[in-house]
Amino acid sequence: MAKSTHFYELFQPEHYNVYLDINRATKQITGTSTITGDAKATQIAIHQKYMTINSVKADGQAVPFTFDDQSEGIHIDLGKTGKATVAIDFTAPLTDSMMGIYPSYYELNGEKKQIIGTQFETTAARQAFPCVDEPEAKATFDLAIKFDEHEGETIISNMPEVKTENGVHYFDTTVRMSSYLIAFAFGEMQSKLTTTKSGVQVGVFATKAHQAKELDFALDIAKRSIEFYEDFYQTPYPLPHSWQMALPDFSAGAMENWGLVTYREAYLLIDPDNTAFDLKLRVATVVAHELAHQWFGDLVTMKWWDDLWLNESFANMMEYVAIDAIEPTWGAWDAFQSGDVPMALQRDATDGVQSVHVQVEDPAEIDALFDSAIVYAKGARMLVMVRALIGDDALRSGLKAYFAAHKYGNARGADLWAALGQASGLDVGAIMNSWLEQPGYPVVTAKVVDGRLTIAQQQFFVGDGQDAGRQWQIPLNSNYDAVPTLLKDHSLDLGDYQSLRQTSGEPFRLNVGNNSHFIVQYDDQLLQDILANVNALDEISQLQLLQDLRLLAEGRRISYATVVPLLTRFADSKYTVVTSALYTVAGNLRKFVTPDSAEEKQIKAYYDQLSAQQVARLGWTPRATDSIDDELSRPTVLSATLFAHNSVAVAAAHEQFTAHQAELASLPAATRPLILANEVKNYGSAELFDTLLAAYRQSTDASYKADLSAALTSTTDAALIAKLIAAFEDADTVKPQDLRAWFRGVLANSKGEQAAWDWIRNDWQWLEDTVGGDMEFTTYITVISRVFRTAERLAEFKAFFEPKINTPGLTREINMDTKVIETRVNLIKDEQAAVNAAIAQVVK
Ligand SMILES: [Zn+2]
Repeated sequence: MAKSTHFYELFQPEHYNVYLDINRATKQITGTSTITGDAKATQIAIHQKYMTINSVKADGQAVPFTFDDQSEGIHIDLGKTGKATVAIDFTAPLTDSMMGIYPSYYELNGEKKQIIGTQFETTAARQAFPCVDEPEAKATFDLAIKFDEHEGETIISNMPEVKTENGVHYFDTTVRMSSYLIAFAFGEMQSKLTTTKSGVQVGVFATKAHQAKELDFALDIAKRSIEFYEDFYQTPYPLPHSWQMALPDFSAGAMENWGLVTYREAYLLIDPDNTAFDLKLRVATVVAHELAHQWFGDLVTMKWWDDLWLNESFANMMEYVAIDAIEPTWGAWDAFQSGDVPMALQRDATDGVQSVHVQVEDPAEIDALFDSAIVYAKGARMLVMVRALIGDDALRSGLKAYFAAHKYGNARGADLWAALGQASGLDVGAIMNSWLEQPGYPVVTAKVVDGRLTIAQQQFFVGDGQDAGRQWQIPLNSNYDAVPTLLKDHSLDLGDYQSLRQTSGEPFRLNVGNNSHFIVQYDDQLLQDILANVNALDEISQLQLLQDLRLLAEGRRISYATVVPLLTRFADSKYTVVTSALYTVAGNLRKFVTPDSAEEKQIKAYYDQLSAQQVARLGWTPRATDSIDDELSRPTVLSATLFAHNSVAVAAAHEQFTAHQAELASLPAATRPLILANEVKNYGSAELFDTLLAAYRQSTDASYKADLSAALTSTTDAALIAKLIAAFEDADTVKPQDLRAWFRGVLANSKGEQAAWDWIRNDWQWLEDTVGGDMEFTTYITVISRVFRTAERLAEFKAFFEPKINTPGLTREINMDTKVIETRVNLIKDEQAAVNAAIAQVVK
């Protein structure tokens, strides 16, 4: 059978009766999947993976079947078409891969425990029970689950439990839904519940290893998010409950299973008494993201995985819309502008990047689509652009119509554009297709030529890129009235510059608000005009200026050396987005210096200079008078002064450490990672290392654990680095879900780089066996590409990864990351001297 045949074309399920008997002790699942549906051919196919099929019956009669491992299914000879009930008896292993039905491990009072959960997206429902495992194959499901149950255990699923008989838990029939959204979890749990205005039960669940108060924050956000969406979408939440479950082992950030959303503990549980504000905001946006999916993704689902962006881009925009609406002072959009936006602009500038919409068939290729920079960040920015164009009223009425037309069914991108087009009267599809179907984005150049102001678009690349003559329909958002809403052509003459400048009374600008996916290169005259008036710009415009200049320098359209002296004028900003953009640029200058060199001393002096005022203003201790911007800026500037090795700062951090030595977790969460890392780097010892490692093993507080891992991986001691590497494959110390952060920490540490690089090359097979089935796998390669900066490392990278280039799911990542390292190596070679000279000029 051709690989491209979707099983749904052969058999269309209407209803499933799924019975599962899960034995944790033997790690075995036995069960029956009984599917009633409509056979479109006499030979049908049903998905399964890693299963033993004991029997297949059609309408009560045994029928022949054959395995087809390549397409992860079995072929069944029905001998007839039309309505049929197919009953499949199977056994399957309970695996440790964080996919399918899998155990999560944790400790409670020194006792090892586990909780069973599920992760089916994209194609792992077929590891749990035989099914037509494609998003279009929507059906209703009756789940009945038995397990080796003991006193005090709970089981939850998409729908409420209706009865327990002979140890079997029966759940209410689901609404019509896709297989990848089925979920359940069981074990010893604690929970907190509440109810929305409209009567939806909302709950947060976690293991008992956590303090009860850690559930409160997410419960409140979940309740208010659902209330917000019911109003915004003008469509009721379709299920009786919305459970949020924190799992100790979880590969992605969270998963939008309908009615039972699963999360990494770090993205759901918050200590209300000591959590950094950015992490609170992160948890809030993750919860809001998953709940946005309950409509957009769950109620209406993409027809096939090529339209994954429909789910993810939309939820990624709505997480900010929702949190900004329910907590307007939290600056949710600031986080979008300084997180998602630069991530999208950076990756989307590398030639070879995929478009937001891509054709896919192979399961490994489907997993590789979950590219946070493209499908999430760029896709969200596309929709932010649409929202800015059509406004919220048209967006809401368009969505209402979209949900009404496609609920409990499937849709394609064109269906959304049609609904939004209808509501707004704009040809949304024509505008958006240029963004959706083409990779990359434009740089718009603005110049005064012979007295006339002209703009032109061209694809922007960081590194070598083949100009394919792509054009976009660009929402320009200028502050000058003479500029049209859209740039559809290659270039445009806007008229006499002097009279335009005079009429408007302010410097010429494009992309005001930074909501369109392009960057601007102003000629020197226009740029100097903006810079001369920079203090009049709002904080997003200042961030945008720094972001665009950095990208232009990365893309070799301007020299990094010209950016260096500009940084000083942003150094004392009270806006956290500006401070964070400033230190993103400064951080990018660090690649031009070799560790332990005279040039490194010099850039440290520049950091000291840039951060001095802010450190004096904000200090080490949170104050009651802090604005959210102060709270967020403090760790950024303290990190800068510590990088500068400012002796007062190093001593102050040490003092903080000493004062909290008895209970390190009680250090203020925002500065805790800096204080711990400072201690390891400047006052480190084997004893301290062992103390922190023991604390890491014992703690259940994910944010404290992340701080400890960041501190431990910053050690400069070779023997301790060897100890860290040894812990990588010890799941009792480093859970597979957290391994990438440990690896990144050691690799980015100049004293650990060699050891980490040796480890991943030597133990690649182990890594593939452990996390290879997982959609996060390729990001191990991305992490390497962010660190390497020398020709030697580039050669080693190529030698190791080029032979793996045809591995499904890895091809694009290896190609792009090779280019990323190559581009960096060339940039450093060409500009190192000029950049360091420019830094020498500005250091006082
Ligand atoms: Zn999502």
